[in-house]
Amino acid sequence: MSSDIDQYASLIRLEEPYDRPTPGSSVERREATRRILSHLLSESGYQQKALNHLICIRSADRPLPDSVLSDIDLINVSEWKGKGDSVDPNTIPCLRALLEETDVDDTEPTASHSPDDDDWTDVISIWRGDISIISTDAIVNAANSELLGCFQPDHVCIDNIIHRSAGPRLRQDCSTIMKLQGHAESSGGAKITRAYNLPSSFVFHTVGPIIERGRKPNEEEKKSLSDCYKSILDVAKRVKNIKSITFCGISTGLYGFPSEEAAPIAIQTVRRWLQENRGQHHIDHIIFDTFLERDEEIYRQVVEGMIGKNLKWVQPPTRTHSQLERAAEWVKGADSILIAAGAGLSASAGLDYTSHELFRELFPAMWERGHRCMYEFIGYTQWEPALQWGYLFSQIHKARFNWPKSSVYQNLLRLTRDKEEKKNGERKRSWVITSNADGMFHQNGFDISSVYTPQGDYSRLQCLKRCREDAVWETEPVMNAALPFIHNETQMITDSSKLPTCPFCGTNQVLMNVRGGNWYIEGHFEEKKRRYERWLRETVRECEEKGETLVIVEIGCGFNTPSVIRWPVQRLVENSRNVRLIRINREHSEVAEELEESGRAMSLPVDANEAIDASGSETKRTLESTETGKQMKRSSSISQKAIKMFQKSRSKTVGCTEVTPVARKMILTVRQLAIEDEFMRHDTTSDEEDSKYIEETTTDFEPAAQLG
Ligand SMILES: [Zn+2]
Ligand SMILES: [Zn+2]
Repeated sequence: MSSDIDQYASLIRLEEPYDRPTPGSSVERREATRRILSHLLSESGYQQKALNHLICIRSADRPLPDSVLSDIDLINVSEWKGKGDSVDPNTIPCLRALLEETDVDDTEPTASHSPDDDDWTDVISIWRGDISIISTDAIVNAANSELLGCFQPDHVCIDNIIHRSAGPRLRQDCSTIMKLQGHAESSGGAKITRAYNLPSSFVFHTVGPIIERGRKPNEEEKKSLSDCYKSILDVAKRVKNIKSITFCGISTGLYGFPSEEAAPIAIQTVRRWLQENRGQHHIDHIIFDTFLERDEEIYRQVVEGMIGKNLKWVQPPTRTHSQLERAAEWVKGADSILIAAGAGLSASAGLDYTSHELFRELFPAMWERGHRCMYEFIGYTQWEPALQWGYLFSQIHKARFNWPKSSVYQNLLRLTRDKEEKKNGERKRSWVITSNADGMFHQNGFDISSVYTPQGDYSRLQCLKRCREDAVWETEPVMNAALPFIHNETQMITDSSKLPTCPFCGTNQVLMNVRGGNWYIEGHFEEKKRRYERWLRETVRECEEKGETLVIVEIGCGFNTPSVIRWPVQRLVENSRNVRLIRINREHSEVAEELEESGRAMSLPVDANEAIDASGSETKRTLESTETGKQMKRSSSISQKAIKMFQKSRSKTVGCTEVTPVARKMILTVRQLAIEDEFMRHDTTSDEEDSKYIEETTTDFEPAAQLG
């Protein structure tokens, strides 16, 4: 229900004139800025984020005092420990250990490699993981020509991750090197610094060639990429303590070098270098770290092509994580559970609205039209109805009604069922609140009578003219009638009588029943909302009376619509000692320091899959024995094959037909590709928020403005 002006006008003193101050002098402004900053920085919950931002945007021209640097070291090291242990490179098998058709004895990963062995497969490994947590002697950073790191806080790039984890001493060293050099670093070279607070000891900084998207790299650029690898190894040869190196996929991320062409250059260059320098170096382990699953598969294929044998699939080693174990204990000990989910959770189940790769697989016709991800169409108005509904119905059909069950949701489901089984009394022990309109909880078998969707649901359509207060109706029958008329090359509905109209007033101004701007028809959500709020109130009260705990598992709720879930659940924890919060979010997991210290809130900066797997390790074992669980464990190579089959089968179908069980399984594996998408996830739901988001991420950073 929207508030009437009469209700709020006096609260905000609407009719009182507001006197703006006159502009201040520069001294006054500086004083004011200082006061604002000191106040904002004293507010809890933001200090860590503010600190990271300020360090990130800071130039290295004025060195920080030693005492401040030591303080930052302390924070960095503690933060890193909070993320879990580092990955021991000796647990990553070399290629030779993965060759198929070898003797059983040879298949054990070897702990050490002999540098004199002439077989390069003894030295090289392929691994997919976070380069900032591996403890090889050195890691490689893909830098830009300034070599000073990234100055955009929250930008998810390797440069940022490495500089942030290492601390500002890294930027200071880079600055020293660059001042000495006197000009920008050209591509193909290599510089080295210590790694400071990273688990490795040294960082190589190299600048790879930049290729505009879609263009093929020329010979010069290929040579430049090869030079990067060669230069790094040449420098490594001169530092006696470097025996192991982890390479990132130089130039393949934002720099646009296609992975298919970069991987063979990387491997061939390293292989040749090892041969040419045999007996003259001490490097015994070289790891190619890939960021995306797809890249890992490309590296494997290149190696298989070079050796002429297949590589076995082994589970890559990951860190052990004391925080995750603690989270699992909290969940286990909880008397009631509230699952609070945002866009990050859907992304973890493969439905990533920002993934180009997924979009291309699911909507090839839209890709041909120049569109790149599902997120583009939130609030999109520039299309004719035949295309609009041809696309929207296909998307809803796939995402809202036919998305495969995923392990992360199945684990959550098991978790809530465990709580319901153990309950005594009538009150439910679990509820779900989610800002996602994709019905993922419904599709995964949750009891929807206790799933509240304050942002709406794609399963209903609404009249945009709001001809009556209950002008909403089921999407499914209208969608099913239209699906056979969607042309698979144009994505358009060929029969205009299949376009949706309001059954009450006949207008074609209709849309999904979700919060699109300032309003949506929410009458039928009211009852659910009341029940949700009553459950929450009663649960908290009962917890306080009986000394029980309510644990809130918040997953993937970022800063774009924080007032929907993130802030309300945070307030619950602040207001009751019997409520605990586990905040799972790769980029924005911070919780208020005092809540963390008193053991009432926990920050897990990991992907939902990793967190939920650990929290439900018991349930995971149960799940793995089920059919769904087995499907989830499909290896990367199978998912690649599935995509190819999926593409073939799709080219034969005319129009958008029902998803067959086989295609369904294929989509299931396609989803894995999207999980580690390089794009930042966000869950805005309206035009205004959308443009605000773009503004925030593109304009220059102003610390004071960002702190609130
Ligand atoms: Zn960056
Ligand atoms: Zn109507």
